[in-house]
Amino acid sequence: KEERIVVLETENAVLHLKLAEYQGLAGRSANEVLQLYAAHGQQMKFQKSSVVTQLHGAIKKRLKQDLKSLHSLALELSKDFQRQSKTCLYQVLAAVQRIQLQNEAMQKFQIKAFDLEQSLQEVTERYEKEKQKRKALHNSLIELRGNIRVHCRIRPLLPFDDAAGHSQDRQRNFAEKVAYAADDETILVKCSRPGHASVNKTYQFERVYNDLESQDAVFADVAPLLTSLLDGYNVCIMAYGQTGSGKTYTMLGPRLEGNLAFAIEEESELGIIPRATQEVFRLISEKPPGSYWVEVSVVEVYNNEIFDLLAKDSCGKVFGVKRDVVTTREGKSDVPLLTHETVENASEFLHLVNKGLQLRVTHPTLVHAHSSRSHLVVTLTITTVVFGENFGTLWEDEQTSQRLNKEASFTFPQKMRDCKSTSSSRASSPVHLEVTEKIKQVKTRLQLVDLAGSECVGMSGVTGAALRETSFINRSLSALADVLGAIAEQRAHVPYRNSKLTHLLQDSVGGDAKLLVMLCISPGQKYLTESMQSLGFGTRARQVQRGQVKKKNFPVPSKGK
Ligand code: ADP
Ligand code: MG
Repeated sequence: KEERIVVLETENAVLHLKLAEYQGLAGRSANEVLQLYAAHGQQMKFQKSSVVTQLHGAIKKRLKQDLKSLHSLALELSKDFQRQSKTCLYQVLAAVQRIQLQNEAMQKFQIKAFDLEQSLQEVTERYEKEKQKRKALHNSLIELRGNIRVHCRIRPLLPFDDAAGHSQDRQRNFAEKVAYAADDETILVKCSRPGHASVNKTYQFERVYNDLESQDAVFADVAPLLTSLLDGYNVCIMAYGQTGSGKTYTMLGPRLEGNLAFAIEEESELGIIPRATQEVFRLISEKPPGSYWVEVSVVEVYNNEIFDLLAKDSCGKVFGVKRDVVTTREGKSDVPLLTHETVENASEFLHLVNKGLQLRVTHPTLVHAHSSRSHLVVTLTITTVVFGENFGTLWEDEQTSQRLNKEASFTFPQKMRDCKSTSSSRASSPVHLEVTEKIKQVKTRLQLVDLAGSECVGMSGVTGAALRETSFINRSLSALADVLGAIAEQRAHVPYRNSKLTHLLQDSVGGDAKLLVMLCISPGQKYLTESMQSLGFGTRARQVQRGQVKKKNFPVPSKGK
Protein backbone atom coordinates (compact mmCIF):
# COMPACT_ATOMS: atom_id res chain seq x y z
CA LYS A 1 0.00 0.00 0.00
CA GLU A 2 2.65 2.43 0.96
CA GLU A 3 4.50 1.59 -2.15
CA ARG A 4 1.34 1.92 -4.01
CA ILE A 5 0.64 5.29 -2.35
CA VAL A 6 4.15 6.41 -3.28
CA VAL A 7 3.68 5.24 -6.87
CA LEU A 8 0.36 6.93 -7.04
CA GLU A 9 1.66 10.10 -5.45
CA THR A 10 4.46 10.10 -7.90
CA GLU A 11 2.04 9.53 -10.67
CA ASN A 12 -0.11 12.30 -9.17
CA ALA A 13 2.83 14.59 -9.03
CA VAL A 14 3.67 13.76 -12.59
CA LEU A 15 0.16 14.37 -13.56
CA HIS A 16 0.21 17.68 -11.69
CA LEU A 17 3.34 18.55 -13.49
CA LYS A 18 1.79 17.63 -16.78
CA LEU A 19 -1.33 19.62 -15.84
CA ALA A 20 0.79 22.54 -14.93
CA GLU A 21 2.68 22.13 -18.22
CA TYR A 22 -0.55 21.93 -20.17
CA GLN A 23 -1.98 24.88 -18.28
CA GLY A 24 1.13 26.76 -19.16
CA LEU A 25 0.85 25.68 -22.74
CA ALA A 26 -2.81 26.74 -22.80
CA GLY A 27 -1.95 30.11 -21.34
CA ARG A 28 0.79 30.58 -23.91
CA SER A 29 -1.46 29.67 -26.80
CA ALA A 30 -4.12 32.12 -25.57
CA ASN A 31 -1.40 34.75 -25.54
CA GLU A 32 -0.36 33.72 -28.95
CA VAL A 33 -3.95 33.98 -30.12
CA LEU A 34 -4.15 37.50 -28.70
CA GLN A 35 -0.86 38.36 -30.26
CA LEU A 36 -2.02 36.95 -33.53
CA TYR A 37 -5.20 39.05 -33.30
CA ALA A 38 -3.19 42.09 -32.60
CA ALA A 39 -0.85 41.25 -35.39
CA HIS A 40 -3.81 40.65 -37.68
CA GLY A 41 -5.32 43.96 -36.68
CA GLN A 42 -2.10 45.72 -37.34
CA GLN A 43 -1.74 43.91 -40.59
CA MET A 44 -5.23 45.05 -41.59
CA LYS A 45 -4.51 48.62 -40.59
CA PHE A 46 -1.37 48.58 -42.51
CA GLN A 47 -3.08 47.13 -45.53
CA LYS A 48 -5.80 49.80 -45.40
CA SER A 49 -3.46 52.70 -45.07
CA SER A 50 -1.48 51.57 -48.01
CA VAL A 51 -4.61 51.53 -50.37
CA VAL A 52 -5.54 54.99 -49.21
CA THR A 53 -2.13 56.30 -49.86
CA GLN A 54 -2.14 54.65 -53.23
CA LEU A 55 -5.50 56.17 -54.03
CA HIS A 56 -4.45 59.44 -52.60
CA GLY A 57 -1.44 59.37 -54.74
CA ALA A 58 -3.43 58.56 -57.84
CA ILE A 59 -5.93 61.26 -57.11
CA LYS A 60 -3.28 63.73 -56.40
CA LYS A 61 -1.62 62.89 -59.62
CA ARG A 62 -4.87 63.18 -61.49
CA LEU A 63 -5.70 66.41 -59.79
CA LYS A 64 -2.39 67.81 -60.70
CA GLN A 65 -3.00 66.87 -64.29
CA ASP A 66 -6.45 68.39 -64.26
CA LEU A 67 -5.24 71.51 -62.62
CA LYS A 68 -2.57 71.80 -65.18
CA SER A 69 -4.94 71.45 -68.08
CA LEU A 70 -7.35 73.79 -66.34
CA HIS A 71 -4.65 76.29 -65.93
CA SER A 72 -3.72 76.09 -69.55
CA LEU A 73 -7.37 76.34 -70.50
CA ALA A 74 -7.82 79.36 -68.26
CA LEU A 75 -4.80 80.88 -69.80
CA GLU A 76 -6.14 80.20 -73.25
CA LEU A 77 -9.50 81.57 -72.27
CA SER A 78 -8.15 84.71 -70.82
CA LYS A 79 -6.06 85.22 -73.92
CA ASP A 80 -9.12 84.68 -76.04
CA PHE A 81 -11.13 87.01 -73.86
CA GLN A 82 -8.49 89.63 -74.18
CA ARG A 83 -8.53 89.26 -77.91
CA GLN A 84 -12.28 89.46 -78.05
CA SER A 85 -12.56 92.37 -75.69
CA LYS A 86 -10.03 94.16 -77.82
CA THR A 87 -12.08 93.69 -80.95
CA CYS A 88 -15.19 94.65 -79.00
CA LEU A 89 -13.50 97.75 -77.81
CA TYR A 90 -12.62 98.65 -81.36
CA GLN A 91 -16.17 98.04 -82.38
CA VAL A 92 -17.50 100.14 -79.50
CA LEU A 93 -15.13 102.90 -80.41
CA ALA A 94 -16.22 102.76 -84.02
CA ALA A 95 -19.86 102.74 -82.93
CA VAL A 96 -19.29 105.68 -80.64
CA GLN A 97 -17.71 107.53 -83.50
CA ARG A 98 -20.61 106.68 -85.73
CA ILE A 99 -23.08 107.75 -83.06
CA GLN A 100 -21.28 111.00 -82.71
CA LEU A 101 -21.54 111.54 -86.44
CA GLN A 102 -25.15 110.56 -86.40
CA ASN A 103 -25.81 112.84 -83.48
CA GLU A 104 -24.43 115.67 -85.45
CA ALA A 105 -26.57 114.74 -88.45
CA MET A 106 -29.55 114.34 -86.16
CA GLN A 107 -29.01 117.76 -84.74
CA LYS A 108 -28.95 119.12 -88.24
CA PHE A 109 -32.11 117.21 -89.04
CA GLN A 110 -33.74 118.43 -85.88
CA ILE A 111 -33.04 121.97 -86.83
CA LYS A 112 -34.35 121.27 -90.30
CA ALA A 113 -37.45 119.52 -88.89
CA PHE A 114 -38.10 122.41 -86.60
CA ASP A 115 -37.89 124.80 -89.54
CA LEU A 116 -40.17 122.54 -91.57
CA GLU A 117 -42.59 122.23 -88.70
CA GLN A 118 -42.75 125.97 -88.43
CA SER A 119 -43.34 126.41 -92.13
CA LEU A 120 -45.89 123.58 -92.06
CA GLN A 121 -47.72 125.34 -89.30
CA GLU A 122 -47.70 128.51 -91.31
CA VAL A 123 -48.92 126.64 -94.37
CA THR A 124 -51.61 124.89 -92.33
CA GLU A 125 -52.79 128.20 -90.97
CA ARG A 126 -52.81 129.64 -94.45
CA TYR A 127 -54.57 126.51 -95.74
CA GLU A 128 -57.24 126.80 -93.06
CA LYS A 129 -57.80 130.41 -94.00
CA GLU A 130 -57.93 129.49 -97.69
CA LYS A 131 -60.32 126.65 -96.91
CA GLN A 132 -62.66 128.99 -95.12
CA LYS A 133 -62.38 131.43 -98.00
CA ARG A 134 -63.05 128.64 -100.51
CA LYS A 135 -66.05 127.48 -98.53
CA ALA A 136 -67.44 130.98 -98.40
CA LEU A 137 -66.76 131.44 -102.12
CA HIS A 138 -68.33 128.10 -102.93
CA ASN A 139 -71.38 129.03 -100.93
CA SER A 140 -71.74 132.33 -102.68
CA LEU A 141 -71.19 130.60 -105.99
CA ILE A 142 -73.98 128.16 -105.24
CA GLU A 143 -76.18 131.03 -104.11
CA LEU A 144 -75.25 132.99 -107.24
CA ARG A 145 -76.38 130.14 -109.36
CA GLY A 146 -79.60 130.45 -107.46
CA ASN A 147 -79.58 126.73 -106.79
CA ILE A 148 -80.89 126.30 -110.29
CA ARG A 149 -78.56 125.37 -113.05
CA VAL A 150 -79.37 124.72 -116.65
CA HIS A 151 -77.32 122.38 -118.81
CA CYS A 152 -78.01 121.86 -122.48
CA ARG A 153 -77.38 118.69 -124.45
CA ILE A 154 -77.44 118.50 -128.21
CA ARG A 155 -78.07 115.00 -129.47
CA PRO A 156 -76.46 113.73 -132.67
CA LEU A 157 -78.33 113.86 -135.96
CA LEU A 158 -80.20 110.58 -136.37
CA PRO A 159 -81.59 108.78 -139.45
CA PHE A 160 -85.17 109.73 -138.64
CA ASP A 161 -84.26 113.43 -138.72
CA ASP A 162 -84.33 113.11 -142.51
CA ALA A 163 -88.05 112.50 -142.78
CA ALA A 164 -89.84 115.40 -144.44
CA GLY A 165 -92.22 117.59 -142.49
CA HIS A 166 -94.71 120.16 -143.75
CA SER A 167 -95.30 120.17 -147.47
CA GLN A 168 -94.43 123.84 -147.98
CA ASP A 169 -90.99 123.22 -146.47
CA ARG A 170 -90.19 120.41 -148.84
CA GLN A 171 -87.45 122.26 -150.62
CA ARG A 172 -85.51 122.70 -147.39
CA ASN A 173 -83.00 120.27 -146.01
CA PHE A 174 -84.47 118.96 -142.75
CA ALA A 175 -81.39 117.02 -141.88
CA GLU A 176 -79.30 120.17 -141.94
CA LYS A 177 -77.72 120.72 -138.61
CA VAL A 178 -78.60 124.08 -137.12
CA ALA A 179 -77.67 123.72 -133.44
CA TYR A 180 -74.02 123.50 -132.41
CA ALA A 181 -72.10 123.71 -129.21
CA ALA A 182 -69.87 126.74 -129.79
CA ASP A 183 -67.99 125.95 -126.60
CA ASP A 184 -68.89 124.15 -123.42
CA GLU A 185 -71.10 127.00 -122.26
CA THR A 186 -72.54 128.31 -125.47
CA ILE A 187 -74.97 126.92 -127.98
CA LEU A 188 -75.18 128.49 -131.39
CA VAL A 189 -78.35 128.18 -133.46
CA LYS A 190 -78.53 129.12 -137.14
CA CYS A 191 -81.97 130.60 -137.65
CA SER A 192 -82.95 130.88 -141.24
CA ARG A 193 -86.28 131.65 -142.80
CA PRO A 194 -86.96 131.33 -146.49
CA GLY A 195 -86.17 134.62 -148.15
CA HIS A 196 -84.24 135.95 -145.16
CA ALA A 197 -80.55 135.90 -144.38
CA SER A 198 -79.77 133.41 -141.65
CA VAL A 199 -79.11 134.80 -138.18
CA ASN A 200 -76.90 133.15 -135.60
CA LYS A 201 -78.30 133.17 -132.10
CA THR A 202 -76.31 132.12 -129.07
CA TYR A 203 -77.48 131.03 -125.66
CA GLN A 204 -75.35 130.59 -122.57
CA PHE A 205 -75.83 127.88 -120.01
CA GLU A 206 -73.83 126.49 -117.12
CA ARG A 207 -72.77 123.70 -119.44
CA VAL A 208 -73.42 122.80 -123.07
CA TYR A 209 -72.73 119.25 -124.28
CA ASN A 210 -72.02 118.68 -127.95
CA ASP A 211 -73.46 115.69 -129.82
CA LEU A 212 -70.37 113.56 -129.18
CA GLU A 213 -70.29 113.88 -125.43
CA SER A 214 -70.89 110.66 -123.57
CA GLN A 215 -73.33 109.75 -120.83
CA ASP A 216 -70.23 109.65 -118.60
CA ALA A 217 -69.42 113.29 -119.30
CA VAL A 218 -73.00 114.34 -118.63
CA PHE A 219 -73.10 112.50 -115.34
CA ALA A 220 -69.76 113.90 -114.20
CA ASP A 221 -71.43 117.33 -113.89
CA VAL A 222 -74.45 115.89 -112.12
CA ALA A 223 -72.55 113.90 -109.47
CA PRO A 224 -71.68 116.88 -107.19
CA LEU A 225 -75.40 117.45 -106.64
CA LEU A 226 -75.61 114.03 -105.01
CA THR A 227 -73.06 115.11 -102.44
CA SER A 228 -75.48 117.94 -101.64
CA LEU A 229 -78.24 115.35 -101.37
CA LEU A 230 -76.40 113.51 -98.60
CA ASP A 231 -75.52 116.90 -97.10
CA GLY A 232 -79.24 117.31 -96.48
CA TYR A 233 -80.51 119.19 -99.53
CA ASN A 234 -83.32 118.07 -101.77
CA VAL A 235 -82.23 117.68 -105.35
CA CYS A 236 -84.19 117.61 -108.59
CA ILE A 237 -82.83 116.76 -112.01
CA MET A 238 -85.24 117.17 -114.90
CA ALA A 239 -84.93 116.71 -118.63
CA TYR A 240 -86.82 119.23 -120.75
CA GLY A 241 -87.23 119.11 -124.49
CA GLN A 242 -89.42 118.06 -127.35
CA THR A 243 -90.18 114.43 -128.12
CA GLY A 244 -87.19 112.75 -129.69
CA SER A 245 -84.65 115.24 -128.36
CA GLY A 246 -82.99 112.69 -126.06
CA LYS A 247 -84.66 113.24 -122.67
CA THR A 248 -85.25 109.57 -121.96
CA TYR A 249 -81.84 108.69 -123.38
CA THR A 250 -80.21 111.24 -121.08
CA MET A 251 -82.23 110.33 -118.00
CA LEU A 252 -82.40 106.54 -118.35
CA GLY A 253 -80.34 105.36 -121.30
CA PRO A 254 -81.12 103.72 -124.61
CA ARG A 255 -84.46 101.90 -124.80
CA LEU A 256 -84.87 98.20 -125.20
CA GLU A 257 -86.32 97.38 -128.64
CA GLY A 258 -90.10 97.99 -128.78
CA ASN A 259 -90.23 98.56 -125.07
CA LEU A 260 -90.40 101.45 -122.65
CA ALA A 261 -87.88 99.77 -120.38
CA PHE A 262 -84.24 100.66 -120.79
CA ALA A 263 -81.23 98.43 -121.29
CA ILE A 264 -79.66 97.96 -117.87
CA GLU A 265 -76.87 95.81 -119.27
CA GLU A 266 -75.33 98.58 -121.36
CA GLU A 267 -73.29 100.05 -118.52
CA SER A 268 -71.54 102.76 -120.53
CA GLU A 269 -74.84 103.92 -121.99
CA LEU A 270 -76.68 104.22 -118.70
CA GLY A 271 -78.29 107.59 -118.14
CA ILE A 272 -78.51 109.92 -115.16
CA ILE A 273 -81.14 107.98 -113.18
CA PRO A 274 -79.23 104.67 -112.87
CA ARG A 275 -75.90 106.41 -112.44
CA ALA A 276 -77.24 108.76 -109.76
CA THR A 277 -78.58 105.78 -107.85
CA GLN A 278 -75.23 104.03 -108.07
CA GLU A 279 -73.53 107.19 -106.83
CA VAL A 280 -76.00 107.58 -103.94
CA PHE A 281 -75.31 104.02 -102.82
CA ARG A 282 -71.57 104.59 -103.20
CA LEU A 283 -71.76 107.73 -101.03
CA ILE A 284 -73.86 105.90 -98.46
CA SER A 285 -71.34 103.06 -98.32
CA GLU A 286 -68.80 105.60 -97.04
CA LYS A 287 -71.08 106.52 -94.14
CA PRO A 288 -71.57 104.54 -90.92
CA PRO A 289 -73.61 101.43 -91.72
CA GLY A 290 -77.32 101.48 -90.91
CA SER A 291 -77.57 105.23 -90.68
CA TYR A 292 -79.07 105.70 -94.13
CA TRP A 293 -81.67 103.93 -96.12
CA VAL A 294 -83.21 104.46 -99.47
CA GLU A 295 -86.80 104.17 -100.62
CA VAL A 296 -87.95 104.55 -104.15
CA SER A 297 -91.22 105.58 -105.71
CA VAL A 298 -92.07 105.83 -109.39
CA VAL A 299 -94.97 107.96 -110.53
CA GLU A 300 -96.28 109.19 -113.81
CA VAL A 301 -98.13 112.46 -114.21
CA TYR A 302 -100.56 112.04 -117.07
CA ASN A 303 -103.37 114.46 -117.84
CA ASN A 304 -102.73 116.14 -114.49
CA GLU A 305 -103.26 112.89 -112.60
CA ILE A 306 -100.66 111.07 -110.57
CA PHE A 307 -100.27 107.33 -111.12
CA ASP A 308 -98.35 105.18 -108.71
CA LEU A 309 -96.41 102.79 -110.93
CA LEU A 310 -95.22 100.59 -108.06
CA ALA A 311 -98.62 99.97 -106.45
CA LYS A 312 -99.61 96.30 -106.28
CA ASP A 313 -103.03 94.71 -106.08
CA SER A 314 -103.95 92.05 -103.50
CA CYS A 315 -102.34 89.34 -105.67
CA GLY A 316 -99.08 91.22 -105.73
CA LYS A 317 -99.51 92.24 -109.36
CA VAL A 318 -98.34 95.71 -110.26
CA PHE A 319 -100.91 98.11 -111.58
CA GLY A 320 -101.07 101.87 -111.87
CA VAL A 321 -103.12 103.45 -109.10
CA LYS A 322 -104.24 107.03 -109.07
CA ARG A 323 -102.88 109.06 -106.14
CA ASP A 324 -103.21 112.62 -104.99
CA VAL A 325 -100.66 115.12 -103.85
CA VAL A 326 -101.29 117.14 -100.70
CA THR A 327 -99.49 119.75 -98.66
CA THR A 328 -98.66 118.64 -95.14
CA ARG A 329 -99.00 120.79 -92.03
CA GLU A 330 -95.28 121.55 -92.29
CA GLY A 331 -95.88 122.91 -95.77
CA LYS A 332 -94.26 120.00 -97.56
CA SER A 333 -95.71 118.12 -100.48
CA ASP A 334 -96.70 114.53 -99.86
CA VAL A 335 -98.48 111.81 -101.77
CA PRO A 336 -100.53 109.78 -99.26
CA LEU A 337 -100.47 106.02 -99.78
CA LEU A 338 -97.78 106.26 -102.43
CA THR A 339 -95.79 103.03 -102.66
CA HIS A 340 -92.25 103.43 -101.41
CA GLU A 341 -90.10 100.39 -101.85
CA THR A 342 -86.93 99.99 -99.85
CA VAL A 343 -83.94 99.26 -102.04
CA GLU A 344 -80.55 98.10 -100.86
CA ASN A 345 -78.52 98.59 -104.00
CA ALA A 346 -78.57 100.14 -107.45
CA SER A 347 -79.50 96.98 -109.35
CA GLU A 348 -82.55 96.38 -107.13
CA PHE A 349 -83.56 99.93 -107.90
CA LEU A 350 -83.08 99.55 -111.65
CA HIS A 351 -85.21 96.43 -111.87
CA LEU A 352 -87.93 98.15 -109.90
CA VAL A 353 -87.90 101.21 -112.15
CA ASN A 354 -87.94 99.02 -115.25
CA LYS A 355 -90.95 97.16 -113.87
CA GLY A 356 -92.73 100.48 -113.34
CA LEU A 357 -91.81 101.63 -116.84
CA GLN A 358 -93.16 98.48 -118.45
CA LEU A 359 -96.45 99.14 -116.75
CA ARG A 360 -96.81 102.37 -118.68
CA VAL A 361 -97.48 100.43 -121.84
CA THR A 362 -99.69 97.69 -120.45
CA HIS A 363 -102.06 99.42 -118.08
CA PRO A 364 -105.39 100.33 -119.72
CA THR A 365 -105.84 103.68 -117.97
CA LEU A 366 -102.36 104.66 -119.00
CA VAL A 367 -102.66 103.86 -122.67
CA HIS A 368 -101.16 106.66 -124.61
CA ALA A 369 -99.36 106.53 -127.84
CA HIS A 370 -96.01 107.58 -126.55
CA SER A 371 -94.32 107.87 -123.20
CA SER A 372 -93.55 111.45 -124.10
CA ARG A 373 -97.17 112.30 -123.33
CA SER A 374 -96.56 111.97 -119.59
CA HIS A 375 -94.06 113.16 -117.02
CA LEU A 376 -92.11 110.41 -115.30
CA VAL A 377 -90.95 111.17 -111.76
CA VAL A 378 -88.61 108.74 -110.02
CA THR A 379 -88.07 109.70 -106.39
CA LEU A 380 -85.35 108.44 -104.12
CA THR A 381 -86.07 109.22 -100.50
CA ILE A 382 -82.98 109.04 -98.33
CA THR A 383 -83.69 108.69 -94.65
CA THR A 384 -80.89 109.49 -92.29
CA VAL A 385 -81.14 108.05 -88.81
CA VAL A 386 -79.29 109.67 -85.99
CA PHE A 387 -79.26 108.51 -82.43
CA GLY A 388 -79.80 111.23 -79.82
CA GLU A 389 -76.82 113.54 -79.32
CA ASN A 390 -74.87 112.63 -82.45
CA PHE A 391 -77.17 114.71 -84.54
CA GLY A 392 -75.00 117.76 -84.88
CA THR A 393 -71.95 115.80 -86.01
CA LEU A 394 -73.49 114.36 -89.12
CA TRP A 395 -73.39 117.45 -91.26
CA GLU A 396 -70.19 119.30 -91.78
CA ASP A 397 -71.52 122.79 -91.96
CA GLU A 398 -73.33 124.09 -88.98
CA GLN A 399 -76.12 125.84 -90.88
CA THR A 400 -77.36 122.65 -92.49
CA SER A 401 -77.05 120.84 -89.23
CA GLN A 402 -79.18 123.43 -87.46
CA ARG A 403 -81.73 123.55 -90.22
CA LEU A 404 -82.12 119.79 -90.33
CA ASN A 405 -82.15 119.58 -86.58
CA LYS A 406 -85.25 121.75 -86.67
CA GLU A 407 -86.85 119.67 -89.37
CA ALA A 408 -85.99 116.31 -87.89
CA SER A 409 -88.83 114.42 -86.39
CA PHE A 410 -88.41 112.27 -83.34
CA THR A 411 -89.69 109.11 -84.83
CA PHE A 412 -89.08 105.45 -84.75
CA PRO A 413 -88.31 104.46 -88.30
CA GLN A 414 -90.42 101.78 -89.82
CA LYS A 415 -87.33 100.07 -91.15
CA MET A 416 -86.20 99.40 -87.60
CA ARG A 417 -89.29 97.35 -87.04
CA ASP A 418 -89.58 95.75 -90.41
CA CYS A 419 -86.08 95.44 -91.61
CA LYS A 420 -86.58 94.50 -95.24
CA SER A 421 -90.07 95.14 -96.35
CA THR A 422 -89.83 94.90 -100.09
CA SER A 423 -93.24 96.29 -100.70
CA SER A 424 -94.53 98.45 -97.96
CA SER A 425 -96.87 101.29 -98.49
CA ARG A 426 -95.41 103.82 -96.19
CA ALA A 427 -97.72 104.89 -93.44
CA SER A 428 -98.65 108.46 -94.19
CA SER A 429 -97.78 109.55 -90.68
CA PRO A 430 -94.51 108.20 -89.32
CA VAL A 431 -94.69 105.74 -86.50
CA HIS A 432 -93.96 107.71 -83.37
CA LEU A 433 -91.26 106.83 -80.94
CA GLU A 434 -92.20 104.42 -78.27
CA VAL A 435 -88.82 103.24 -77.08
CA THR A 436 -86.55 104.91 -74.56
CA GLU A 437 -83.74 105.76 -76.96
CA LYS A 438 -84.53 108.71 -79.15
CA ILE A 439 -83.92 108.38 -82.84
CA LYS A 440 -84.11 111.30 -85.18
CA GLN A 441 -84.71 110.81 -88.84
CA VAL A 442 -84.32 113.27 -91.64
CA LYS A 443 -85.58 112.70 -95.12
CA THR A 444 -84.03 114.18 -98.21
CA ARG A 445 -85.38 113.67 -101.67
CA LEU A 446 -83.82 113.17 -105.05
CA GLN A 447 -86.41 113.62 -107.79
CA LEU A 448 -85.47 112.56 -111.28
CA VAL A 449 -87.86 113.74 -113.93
CA ASP A 450 -88.31 112.83 -117.57
CA LEU A 451 -90.75 115.54 -118.63
CA ALA A 452 -93.38 115.15 -121.33
CA GLY A 453 -92.39 116.39 -124.77
CA SER A 454 -92.45 120.18 -124.86
CA GLU A 455 -93.38 120.41 -128.55
CA CYS A 456 -97.05 120.61 -127.57
CA VAL A 457 -96.58 124.07 -126.22
CA GLY A 458 -98.31 126.33 -128.71
CA MET A 459 -99.31 123.45 -130.96
CA SER A 460 -102.61 123.71 -132.82
CA GLY A 461 -104.88 121.62 -134.97
CA VAL A 462 -105.23 118.62 -132.68
CA THR A 463 -108.51 117.23 -131.46
CA GLY A 464 -110.01 114.72 -129.02
CA ALA A 465 -107.77 112.80 -126.65
CA ALA A 466 -104.66 114.28 -128.23
CA LEU A 467 -105.98 117.78 -127.62
CA ARG A 468 -106.70 116.90 -123.99
CA GLU A 469 -103.20 115.49 -123.53
CA THR A 470 -101.70 118.47 -125.27
CA SER A 471 -103.51 120.98 -123.16
CA PHE A 472 -102.54 119.16 -119.95
CA ILE A 473 -98.90 119.02 -120.95
CA ASN A 474 -99.11 122.65 -122.01
CA ARG A 475 -100.54 123.65 -118.67
CA SER A 476 -98.13 121.63 -116.56
CA LEU A 477 -95.07 122.91 -118.41
CA SER A 478 -96.24 126.48 -118.21
CA ALA A 479 -97.02 125.92 -114.51
CA LEU A 480 -93.41 124.80 -114.15
CA ALA A 481 -92.24 127.95 -115.93
CA ASP A 482 -94.49 130.05 -113.65
CA VAL A 483 -93.07 128.40 -110.54
CA LEU A 484 -89.52 129.09 -111.67
CA GLY A 485 -90.54 132.65 -112.54
CA ALA A 486 -92.12 133.23 -109.11
CA ILE A 487 -88.99 131.93 -107.43
CA ALA A 488 -86.90 134.22 -109.66
CA GLU A 489 -88.88 137.25 -108.63
CA GLN A 490 -88.83 136.14 -105.01
CA ARG A 491 -92.57 136.39 -104.87
CA ALA A 492 -94.09 135.49 -101.54
CA HIS A 493 -96.46 133.10 -103.24
CA VAL A 494 -95.08 130.45 -105.54
CA PRO A 495 -97.93 128.80 -107.46
CA TYR A 496 -96.83 125.19 -106.89
CA ARG A 497 -100.40 124.02 -106.68
CA ASN A 498 -101.37 125.13 -110.18
CA SER A 499 -100.42 121.71 -111.47
CA LYS A 500 -99.87 118.27 -109.99
CA LEU A 501 -96.40 118.22 -111.51
CA THR A 502 -95.17 121.34 -109.73
CA HIS A 503 -96.99 120.38 -106.54
CA LEU A 504 -95.22 117.02 -106.61
CA LEU A 505 -91.84 118.64 -107.23
CA GLN A 506 -92.36 121.52 -104.79
CA ASP A 507 -89.81 120.44 -102.16
CA SER A 508 -87.03 119.73 -104.61
CA VAL A 509 -87.52 122.86 -106.71
CA GLY A 510 -88.10 125.59 -104.15
CA GLY A 511 -86.41 126.57 -100.91
CA ASP A 512 -82.75 125.68 -100.73
CA ALA A 513 -83.19 122.62 -102.95
CA LYS A 514 -80.89 122.21 -105.92
CA LEU A 515 -82.43 121.98 -109.36
CA LEU A 516 -80.73 120.97 -112.55
CA VAL A 517 -82.63 121.44 -115.79
CA MET A 518 -81.18 119.39 -118.64
CA LEU A 519 -82.35 120.95 -121.88
CA CYS A 520 -82.39 118.39 -124.65
CA ILE A 521 -82.04 119.73 -128.15
CA SER A 522 -82.48 118.07 -131.53
CA PRO A 523 -79.91 119.63 -133.83
CA GLY A 524 -81.84 119.38 -137.11
CA GLN A 525 -83.44 122.19 -139.05
CA LYS A 526 -86.75 120.34 -138.82
CA TYR A 527 -87.01 121.02 -135.09
CA LEU A 528 -85.76 124.60 -135.07
CA THR A 529 -88.98 126.06 -133.61
CA GLU A 530 -89.14 123.52 -130.77
CA SER A 531 -85.43 123.88 -130.05
CA MET A 532 -85.77 127.66 -129.81
CA GLN A 533 -88.72 127.22 -127.47
CA SER A 534 -86.67 124.89 -125.21
CA LEU A 535 -83.73 127.29 -125.22
CA GLY A 536 -86.11 130.08 -124.22
CA PHE A 537 -87.42 128.01 -121.32
CA GLY A 538 -83.86 127.25 -120.20
CA THR A 539 -82.81 130.87 -120.44
CA ARG A 540 -85.72 131.98 -118.26
CA ALA A 541 -85.05 129.25 -115.71
CA ARG A 542 -81.44 130.32 -115.58
CA GLN A 543 -82.38 133.79 -114.50
CA VAL A 544 -83.76 132.31 -111.33
CA GLN A 545 -81.62 133.65 -108.55
CA ARG A 546 -82.42 133.52 -104.96
CA GLY A 547 -82.34 135.28 -101.64
CA GLN A 548 -79.55 137.58 -100.68
CA VAL A 549 -77.65 136.89 -103.84
CA LYS A 550 -79.48 139.45 -105.91
CA LYS A 551 -79.07 142.02 -103.20
CA LYS A 552 -75.36 141.32 -102.82
CA ASN A 553 -74.94 142.06 -106.50
CA PHE A 554 -72.00 139.73 -107.06
CA PRO A 555 -70.64 139.37 -110.56
CA VAL A 556 -72.15 136.21 -112.06
CA PRO A 557 -69.41 133.66 -112.77
CA SER A 558 -69.22 132.80 -116.40
CA LYS A 559 -68.22 129.16 -115.85
CA GLY A 560 -70.79 126.89 -114.32
CA LYS A 561 -68.49 124.09 -113.24
P1 ADP B 1 -87.22 111.75 -125.86
O1 ADP B 1 -87.25 110.98 -124.60
O2 ADP B 1 -86.82 113.18 -125.65
O3 ADP B 1 -88.46 111.63 -126.63
P2 ADP B 1 -85.32 109.76 -126.66
O4 ADP B 1 -84.46 109.75 -125.48
O5 ADP B 1 -86.32 108.69 -126.78
O6 ADP B 1 -86.07 111.17 -126.78
O7 ADP B 1 -84.37 109.83 -127.93
C1 ADP B 1 -84.83 109.67 -129.22
C2 ADP B 1 -83.83 108.83 -129.99
O8 ADP B 1 -82.60 109.48 -130.08
C3 ADP B 1 -83.59 107.50 -129.35
O9 ADP B 1 -83.48 106.53 -130.35
C4 ADP B 1 -82.28 107.68 -128.66
O10 ADP B 1 -81.57 106.47 -128.55
C5 ADP B 1 -81.56 108.67 -129.55
N1 ADP B 1 -80.65 109.54 -128.82
C6 ADP B 1 -81.00 110.55 -128.02
N2 ADP B 1 -79.92 111.17 -127.50
C7 ADP B 1 -78.86 110.55 -128.00
C8 ADP B 1 -77.43 110.72 -127.86
N3 ADP B 1 -76.90 111.68 -127.08
N4 ADP B 1 -76.62 109.88 -128.53
C9 ADP B 1 -77.13 108.91 -129.31
N5 ADP B 1 -78.45 108.70 -129.48
C10 ADP B 1 -79.32 109.51 -128.85
MG1 MG C 1 -88.85 110.06 -123.79
